Amino acid sequence: MAYDVLTDDQQELRELVRTLARERVAPRAAEIDESHEFPWDVVELFREHHLFGLLFDEEWGGTGTGTLLALVAIEELSKVCATSGLILAVQELGSLGLKLDGTREQQEQWLPRLASGEILGAYALTEAGSGSDSAAMRTTARLDDGEYVLDGSKRFITNAGVAGLYTVFAKTDPDAGHAGISAFLVEAEAPGFEVTRLEPKMGISGSTTGELAFDGCRIPAGNLLGREGEGFRLAMRILDRSRPGVAAQALGIAQGATDYALEYAKSRETMGKPIAEHQLIQAKLADMETECEAARGLLYRFGQMADAGVDGPELTKASAMAKLKCGDVAMAVTTDAVQILGGYGYIKEYPVERFMRDAKITQIYEGTQEIQRLVIAREMVRESRAFLLAGVS
Ligand SMILES: Cc1cc2nc3c(=O)[nH]c(=O)nc-3n(C[C@H](O)[C@H](O)[C@H](O)COP(=O)(O)OP(=O)(O)OC[C@H]3O[C@@H](n4cnc5c(N)ncnc54)[C@H](O)[C@@H]3O)c2cc1C
Repeated sequence: MAYDVLTDDQQELRELVRTLARERVAPRAAEIDESHEFPWDVVELFREHHLFGLLFDEEWGGTGTGTLLALVAIEELSKVCATSGLILAVQELGSLGLKLDGTREQQEQWLPRLASGEILGAYALTEAGSGSDSAAMRTTARLDDGEYVLDGSKRFITNAGVAGLYTVFAKTDPDAGHAGISAFLVEAEAPGFEVTRLEPKMGISGSTTGELAFDGCRIPAGNLLGREGEGFRLAMRILDRSRPGVAAQALGIAQGATDYALEYAKSRETMGKPIAEHQLIQAKLADMETECEAARGLLYRFGQMADAGVDGPELTKASAMAKLKCGDVAMAVTTDAVQILGGYGYIKEYPVERFMRDAKITQIYEGTQEIQRLVIAREMVRESRAFLLAGVS
């Protein structure tokens, strides 16, 4: 039997997701990409088979099966359709604020609905003028007569227009920098809230990416997440735990492209033999497979650490390393997959051109690769390794 880091129970659940991905999602993938329409039928499929539950503890109606298995599910779905994998990843992104810092009352109000997939979540940090430098945001929130009033806008928000609940970051003290940022829960129906624009994109075309406008948007004071001024810290803690979801999406895309290129190489003949027997193609395939496995090592290690209760700087670094490696592997491997298919790799009849377009975003969102490197290096500088150098002259 092949070696597997997953337990028998985890393997069984992976098999369920893999079968759904292959039989129900894969046949829709090209259509989702071409139509640029959000795939509500995939959401319905996830609801029916309780896939959203994989992200939640049992007390909220989830499976309580932990982080590693949730990442494996995103990977399996993304092997055939990156937009579908992203639906699970963003449900986690949009729920983490509640999980980490919600009051019992807030959790009871929303987590069961997110766990069943009745509503979708979203996370709104980025603005037109502030992406990597998120603390430069300009959206404000002020208390008025028992309600918070939000003014400003957010840009590039995944699930815009399809989410029922948005975790929104805004400045309650515009002069206090990071310490002036707070987090809020905004329901889609909140007065003064509107989705004003959806972006056409290079890839993940079925996923919505949009602009949110808050024009005197009034929400109950009880929708403050955590305490005033602690929103920036929460935003970063959420990203520590959600970035591996992007890494899982990236790894799925990379492995899907590798598997497709391998099968193609076995059947396509040039100079009298399958291209899989030409050494230059073999070298590419070997590198693609090895890179996927290396990326998987970092990603699953993060999942195991999270399931073991590891938190703090160690988890931050592991999360950034998984995102960095998986994103870069996805871009490199999908580019090679297109090359292996030659001219057929470049046309839409074959899925590898979609894989390559979908891969690019994994190097950009939830912190660009440059930002991941900054995070990893910051943690390295913080760690003390002086003892390793003792005696070295
Ligand atoms: C499809 C899509 C979906 C998205 N979904 C969401 C979402 O759901 N929620 C959300 O809040 N945001 C979302 N985003 C926003 C995304 O996270 C940002 O686009 C990203 O963080 C980069 O910010 P920016 O676009 O402003 O680029 P900038 O911050 O302007 O960066 C431009 C370039 O400069 C580099 N750079 C910036 N600062 C440094 C530095 N200090 N050192 C070295 N290099 C640096 C960057 O790496 C990048 O290469 C999404 C974006 C896209 C395209």
